[in-house]
Amino acid sequence: MNKDIEFESAETIRAYQETRLHEALDYLHACSPYYRRLFSTHHIDLAGIRRIDDLQRIPFTEKKDLQLHNEDFRCCPKAKIVDYITTSGTLGEPVTFGCTDRDLDRLAFNEAKSFACAGLGPGNILQLMTTIDKRFMAGLAYFLGIRRLGASIIRVGNGIPELQWDTIRRMQPDSIMCVPSFIPRLIQYAEEHGIDYTHSSVKRIIGIGEGLRNQDFTLNLLGRQIKEKWDVQLFATYSSTEMGATFSECEYGQGGHCHPELIIVEIIGEDGRPVPDGEVGEVVVTTLGVEGMPLLRFRTGDMCARISEPCQCGRNSFRLTPIVGRKNNMIKLKGTTLYPPAINDVLDNTDYVQNYVVYVQDSESGTDDVVVKVGLKYEPAYDAVKDLKDRFRAHLRVAPKIEVRPTDEVQRVNFPAKSRKPVKFIDQRKR
Ligand SMILES: [Zn+2]
Repeated sequence: MNKDIEFESAETIRAYQETRLHEALDYLHACSPYYRRLFSTHHIDLAGIRRIDDLQRIPFTEKKDLQLHNEDFRCCPKAKIVDYITTSGTLGEPVTFGCTDRDLDRLAFNEAKSFACAGLGPGNILQLMTTIDKRFMAGLAYFLGIRRLGASIIRVGNGIPELQWDTIRRMQPDSIMCVPSFIPRLIQYAEEHGIDYTHSSVKRIIGIGEGLRNQDFTLNLLGRQIKEKWDVQLFATYSSTEMGATFSECEYGQGGHCHPELIIVEIIGEDGRPVPDGEVGEVVVTTLGVEGMPLLRFRTGDMCARISEPCQCGRNSFRLTPIVGRKNNMIKLKGTTLYPPAINDVLDNTDYVQNYVVYVQDSESGTDDVVVKVGLKYEPAYDAVKDLKDRFRAHLRVAPKIEVRPTDEVQRVNFPAKSRKPVKFIDQRKR
């Protein structure tokens, strides 16, 4: 990592990626039953795919393809798989991923680069507050990355604030890796038990699975909630098992840097063609250097924009803005495209809102009907429905229908039996 390609020019990075792309395509042709079939069915001449733009001639790979043809994606004998992982699929059954020895090295490289991007190096101690087993890739990858980087890790796992604070007191970690919404719980525990968390050894929090910033890179509500109480440096990351790559923020917090050795990214519009920089589209990835289950033009379903201008940190690798939502959850409201997190954001930032649930239905005009049912913490002195509509128009340019409901009724919808996550979005569209 002495000569980090991310500090080279954008042209050098692109040329490097295109060389790696040829290798990846040759490997798929030689070793992947799924992709060999795809190339043959669609008469794709791989010699003609020279540049990243040429990828558009190759069909996308969807989540359901992974589910229906899971075994055919494996490019090596089963005996070469060291570690088995599953991800949730869209059709019910989970998708199996197998990592070879080389894939684990690749993951180590990926996370070592990501941690380095967040300022970590030898001497730093990271407290891992995520699961390392349960068939997940992430925790294992973090462990391997820290080891590769020459830093130190404490594998506490998720939850249990008492054990987290005990560990922080004993081992004095400077960094935490966790799902960010755990931090308010950690702070609350500290406050209730007289722990002086603001003077603890922790100076840096690296978040996974949830964003900490808005599209303009200012902190979002969760980011502000953490930062107002605890003056730590916040770093957001974005990754997934299918990508086997992480987009990580540097100290300037201007989006997640792509590590070009690992992945090629296209941002695709609704017509399936690339959108200009700065415009939101679907993240489509081609993995580089994967041995077990490499993917070509895989549609992640995640929506965000690419920023290509150089970053203040000196890296010229492009960045991705925070994920605005999932493609499946996209809403068309009166000609405006939006995603549930944007609706949640308006409601979460309204002090008199206790709870809410967002319903989306088909409307006769062909666009979507959005009804927000809100429970109120208290009755404001003004018309709450009108005020909420004004807030929506100010932030999203459009306003959904709003119904005020008793808080316990909304609560029952938020927490149905068997659901582990609160339900805030109910999609009733047929499609
Ligand atoms: Zn940067």
